[in-house]
Amino acid sequence: SKVPSITLNNGIAMPQLGYGVWQVEDDQAFTAVGQALAAGYRSIDTAAAYGNEEGTGKALAASGLPREELFVTTKLWNSAHGYDAALRAFDASLTKLGLEYVDLYLIHWPVPSKGLYIETYKALEKILADGRAKAIGVSNFLPEHLQRLLGETSVVPAVNQIELHPHLQQEESRAFHVRHGIATEAWSPLGQGRGLLDDPTIGRIAAKHGRTPAQVVLRWHLQVGNVVIPKSVTPSRIVENIDVFGFELDGDDFAALAGLETGSRLGPDPATFDMA
Ligand code: NAD
Repeated sequence: SKVPSITLNNGIAMPQLGYGVWQVEDDQAFTAVGQALAAGYRSIDTAAAYGNEEGTGKALAASGLPREELFVTTKLWNSAHGYDAALRAFDASLTKLGLEYVDLYLIHWPVPSKGLYIETYKALEKILADGRAKAIGVSNFLPEHLQRLLGETSVVPAVNQIELHPHLQQEESRAFHVRHGIATEAWSPLGQGRGLLDDPTIGRIAAKHGRTPAQVVLRWHLQVGNVVIPKSVTPSRIVENIDVFGFELDGDDFAALAGLETGSRLGPDPATFDMA
């Protein structure tokens, strides 16, 4: 494949760029994931909450690609926290995907108000031990949640998938992840296409390299070391977003992009988000 992999803390290889399917309807997911696979993506990021695990699974099967060439991530929703509930939720996701294992299973949000993410993670450790996930991890965990997890469970999460883009560069989380061998995966890597891609600094860097703003932002993530999972249902953009391995940003570009931090989130605050 044209996409390089990173090695997770348990030795499993994960493509550094994948395809995310949030806000893609189940039947549309079949078409969109099919297009992504045809364009060369091998890593697909879905979640129980996205309601498109069936369409995603059908597209994986229809592609005819060998299972070992695919990297499939899904996530446990907030309503399924707790040991037994988590095991049941995992079974349901696996059935919908039509798979015998997933490559990565994540707790979608910590939901600190429930106080169940430790128990939930212990179910993920069981799923990992049973070989039904090749790697386990979390999403939207703040350093304080990770710190508690590291103290009370055995398997260091392979990944923490967090909101991350040039407006929210997540220095503190990234440094914590590096210290503990956790890969940083960026969600909404393009800032959901809103505002960020119209930023004049990004436009200037894009013109300099003869690339698009989205390509510059994805290139920034890759050079920072993040795993990225951009989403688009537009065929030309699906192709554009994976065509980011033929150029490099330089130190001046990096310095300019560092100045774009605003610290504001597009998504919810993980400390309080508890939607079920
Ligand atoms: P994104 O940053 O990937 O932006 C997607 C949007 O940007 C598209 O809908 C489109 O409007 C625009 N876009 C895409 N490619 C473009 C291009 N080449 N040129 C111009 N505009 C373009 O946003 P996202 O979908 O929120 O995030 C990506 C993935 O991250 C999701 O699909 C999902 O898999 C994951 N995610 C996870 C969480 C979580 O809580 N773990 C939350 C949000 C998203």
